[in-house]
Amino acid sequence: MLDEHGRAEVPRAEVFGMARITVLGAGHNGLATALLLAGDGHEVTVLERDRAAPEGGPERLSTGWERPGVSQFHLPHYMLANWRRRMASELPEVLGELEGMGGRRLGTLDGLPAHVTGGFRAGDEELRGVAARRPVVEGAFAAVAARTPGLTVRRGTKVMALVAGPRSSDGVPDVTGVVTQDGEVVESELVVDAMGRRTPIDALVRTVGARPPRLWRERLAFVYYCRHFRTDQAAATPVLRTNHETVSLLAFVADSGTFSLSFVVASNDRPARELRDVDVWERALTLFPAAERLRAASEPISGVQVMSGAEDQRRSFIVDGNPVVTGLVPVGDSYARTNPSLGRGTSIGLAHACLLRDTLREVEPRRSEALAHRFAEATESAIDPIYHVTADYDRHRMAQVQAELIGDTYRPADPSWSVLCMLDSLKAKDADLLRVYLRHVQLDLTAPGLADLPPAARAEVTTPGHVRPGYPPGGPTRAELLAAIGAD
Ligand SMILES: Cc1cc2nc3c(=O)[nH]c(=O)nc-3n(C[C@H](O)[C@H](O)[C@H](O)COP(=O)(O)OP(=O)(O)OC[C@H]3O[C@@H](n4cnc5c(N)ncnc54)[C@H](O)[C@@H]3O)c2cc1C
Repeated sequence: MLDEHGRAEVPRAEVFGMARITVLGAGHNGLATALLLAGDGHEVTVLERDRAAPEGGPERLSTGWERPGVSQFHLPHYMLANWRRRMASELPEVLGELEGMGGRRLGTLDGLPAHVTGGFRAGDEELRGVAARRPVVEGAFAAVAARTPGLTVRRGTKVMALVAGPRSSDGVPDVTGVVTQDGEVVESELVVDAMGRRTPIDALVRTVGARPPRLWRERLAFVYYCRHFRTDQAAATPVLRTNHETVSLLAFVADSGTFSLSFVVASNDRPARELRDVDVWERALTLFPAAERLRAASEPISGVQVMSGAEDQRRSFIVDGNPVVTGLVPVGDSYARTNPSLGRGTSIGLAHACLLRDTLREVEPRRSEALAHRFAEATESAIDPIYHVTADYDRHRMAQVQAELIGDTYRPADPSWSVLCMLDSLKAKDADLLRVYLRHVQLDLTAPGLADLPPAARAEVTTPGHVRPGYPPGGPTRAELLAAIGAD
């Protein structure tokens, strides 16, 4: 039986093991998790440290909603086709709300000329994501959450500690609730950590005597220098990422005629730090003629916003085969955070939220040890592959940038980077390969393989010593970038 939004209706009484569940954090993934679990009949409370609730339409949300708990709140976001596809089947009401608030189904193909795309083809709509500023997307989640039965969002409620007792079987702390800044104890059968990329969960679990979770972290991060604009030519605004020697340019269309342009550089690129200055930023943009033309037809609506994307990182609560804690699971960025220039954070988080909902259909929350193992296994098989493909991309791109910074050429032994760079360069000349590339990178979140390349390109990337860095012709080179920012 389908409900009013076309979703398969799961009768509440038939869902296995209803529970009181506390979700920590009301960001994208916290709210997605809460909506999915409330949809299955669980009694869900979301505790959010930031006090302000969303108010008004897209402009008020984007300029007036104070969300210090999410440092990237006002930075450019684009919701990938992978996110849009899953939202359409899992949370269509939120997608409808977002479109009602100005979010638009647009993708890379929509911003490119017909001689590059070959015109619109059947199936192209699948490659569209959703263009909207981040506060608008979160506002849509919050609006639906506010009218969802069984779901309460408590803002201005910071979680300070966990409540746990030792399990009789092995002494591992079993979390039974949390303590808020007012000293209130909120009890529940399951606590979900959705406190984002800077979650304090490692410190919180230590206070209940747990061993620390396991962390895997990359060494270097990318830094973003972003500006938002408004234009009446939004239809021509692209969704693009182009890599150059030591800088990448991101162009993200958004809602209400707005779009953003961002430079992405390595965190150890000292001269590039000058990009925080608006005049330097504007000079650097002159190196990208298409983006500069778009900018010239637009009004800036922000200064230069700077943020480190932070290193890619993954956390596991299973260490040496055993949970460090039970009754507590991580979802979204608190589990895995990735380089924002691939725009995958919310797609990975939404997939993870759905996985938790599905796991709770199999394992009752009160069986906390079984749940810890089952959810970790499910995460390892469904989420980790996406994380690894993304982290591999970042590792290669970072190594390429580091080589360029010292005037060297990156020559990886692993052919996957050469395949990706080859596809990246061929996509501007071949409309079929463009779609293959977009399907991997934005829809399926997979890595292209040799089989995706035409025979001549396949032979080229498998030739020993082959190097094709994947930069579009015409630069800018490192030297041109340094000259533009006045650091040569
Ligand atoms: C610069 C940048 C650009 C990005 N661009 C994209 C993009 O284009 N597309 C994309 O899909 N992803 C993008 N991302 C990633 C995306 O922002 C994250 O994946 C997403 O916000 C994660 O959602 P979350 O709910 O897991 O965490 P968050 O959105 O970070 O939410 C965590 C919440 O927890 C709350 N919290 C923290 N501590 C406590 C506490 N003690 N008690 C209670 N509440 C607490 C915070 O206030 C916050 O509301 C970008 C990230 C960055 C840094």
